[in-house]
Amino acid sequence: MFLGQNNCKICSSKGVEVFKTKFDNKEILNFFNSEYGEKTSNFLKKKIGKKNFILKKCSVCQFIWQKNIPKSFFLKQLYDKIIDPMDSLEKSRNVNILQKKYFENEINFFQNFHKKKNLNILDFGAGWGTWLICIKKNCQSVFATEFSSIRKKHLMKNNIKVINLKNKKYNNYFHVVRLEQVLEHISNLKGIIFDLKKIIKKGGILSIGVPNGKYEIKKEIIKLKKGPIQPLEHLNCFNNKSLKILLGKNGFKSISVFEIITTFLRTKRFDYHNIRYILGLIKNSLLSTKINFIKIK
Ligand SMILES: [Zn+2]
Repeated sequence: MFLGQNNCKICSSKGVEVFKTKFDNKEILNFFNSEYGEKTSNFLKKKIGKKNFILKKCSVCQFIWQKNIPKSFFLKQLYDKIIDPMDSLEKSRNVNILQKKYFENEINFFQNFHKKKNLNILDFGAGWGTWLICIKKNCQSVFATEFSSIRKKHLMKNNIKVINLKNKKYNNYFHVVRLEQVLEHISNLKGIIFDLKKIIKKGGILSIGVPNGKYEIKKEIIKLKKGPIQPLEHLNCFNNKSLKILLGKNGFKSISVFEIITTFLRTKRFDYHNIRYILGLIKNSLLSTKINFIKIK
């Protein structure tokens, strides 16, 4: 059911255990109950209740990870069956006007960064395709990868090309890869970074967003609920520093404030929403865990 991850996924050092309980801990069961419903919560209690939920932390990288990683068949079951797909599809459909404006400014930023309109864009772990469906009208060359079969079918039904990264055609192909709320779920970080490096062009953007675990990492206050440390689903917990170390070790650098501002000037959009978007980029890049990285080698 689980695989043991003993060493830090970023620097391989041993790390220390900062938290240990069983999956049938009352707080965890309450979380399962509120997140997945009573039936699923009972199912999980029976299935994994007696197994250990352990968190380890690397003092070098300031990275926290779940030691017991669900094996791939269990993860597949989790994302396709255990988490109610229809419920999660409904949530993903609630895109408000502010989010749409945000996505529009985001694409405009990417186009101005590259100084061209036609970009090859991949949403890695596209989920229900909310982002791609919104940006499709302004971008012709958009693609998706997705782990869950039910979401994959939904993407294809919406005319989004779901690709296999093993296809050599996509080596060195993408100007922008988006990885939004994905990296925290990934058991094999090295594998995914290897693929990303292969498919992104030199100078291309890797746009990563993960929950910000700065309080959990700094104070080691572990709350067993929805958030950066979420039993089963969030296997990795990052802060600004650990995210930059991970990507820095693998040939990426975070976009500089200078690059953000010069790109902003090229967008020639000086309205409230775009200025807000740009200020957010700068703030997040310096302090948070939503960062645009550039592939430098
Ligand atoms: Zn480390």
